[in-house]
Amino acid sequence: MRMHEHPTINYPEYHWPAGKRCAVVFSLDLDAESPFLWLHRGQQVQQLGEIEQRRFGPRQGLARVVRLFAEYGIRGSFYVPGVVAQTYPGLLPFLLEGGHEIAHHGYYHERIEAIPVAQAEDYLVMAQELFCTQTGLSGLGHRAPSWEMTSDFLQTLERRGVSYDSSLMGFDHPYHVGNMVEVPVQWTVDDALYFRYTNSPRDKTHPANPGAVLDSWIEEFEGVRETGGLFMVTLHDWISGRSQRLRLLRKLIAHIRHDPQVWWARADEVAAWHAASPNRDLYRVPAHSINTHFESATRG
Ligand SMILES: [Zn+2]
Repeated sequence: MRMHEHPTINYPEYHWPAGKRCAVVFSLDLDAESPFLWLHRGQQVQQLGEIEQRRFGPRQGLARVVRLFAEYGIRGSFYVPGVVAQTYPGLLPFLLEGGHEIAHHGYYHERIEAIPVAQAEDYLVMAQELFCTQTGLSGLGHRAPSWEMTSDFLQTLERRGVSYDSSLMGFDHPYHVGNMVEVPVQWTVDDALYFRYTNSPRDKTHPANPGAVLDSWIEEFEGVRETGGLFMVTLHDWISGRSQRLRLLRKLIAHIRHDPQVWWARADEVAAWHAASPNRDLYRVPAHSINTHFESATRG
């Protein structure tokens, strides 16, 4: 069985609008306690520790990050599970008022690959209906919880009118997976990797030193600018709304903001640019090639 049916090994440089060299997107996944409750679904949960820690996000963290963005004129992309929008009905209108993008992030922060695709579709439709009721908006973008995706669900997103996906990292600039525009993410620039700490067995180490993370993220930004990619920062309000990380964010923004070669954009604007520009025909991969396996190798 073939490993990959699209054997191109060298692509042209990505073309950004107005002669810009790269794009910068600040995105937030507003999970609140939904991942914890999804993990413990069907159980009576007594402990409040992680739940309260995560609720710091919608209570205080989010407003602080949004205030910081407003100070620098940054419009972010906010991925919101349906259940979080339902719990905080003022959330989506608040974000829209600030000029930010709102997009889907599951209903219960469900892991796509862990449930039947029909159930994942039901949750997507529930989220779409709720967002439409609360804001009048449809045809929004999507980011999969925990950035896991399946080829079946990519087709579901397309059929349900989702405008783009932001869960995968096969290029460091937008591309097409099948017919879906993908606005890629990057583990290296995800706050959870460095700072997520809840004293649970999942946490392998204590929170990182923000100074070291700032150095690392600036290095990543400078590298992405050299190669002409997308610098997609992923934050969580319950993590990056904390004091020392807000200071880290301010320093990161200060480093980037005077660079005239940077296109500051929301993820939906990046997706729309990709779909309307000559880029759309240059970076296309099939959606189903991820399902191959090494038959001959296991036969020995
Ligand atoms: Zn999430």
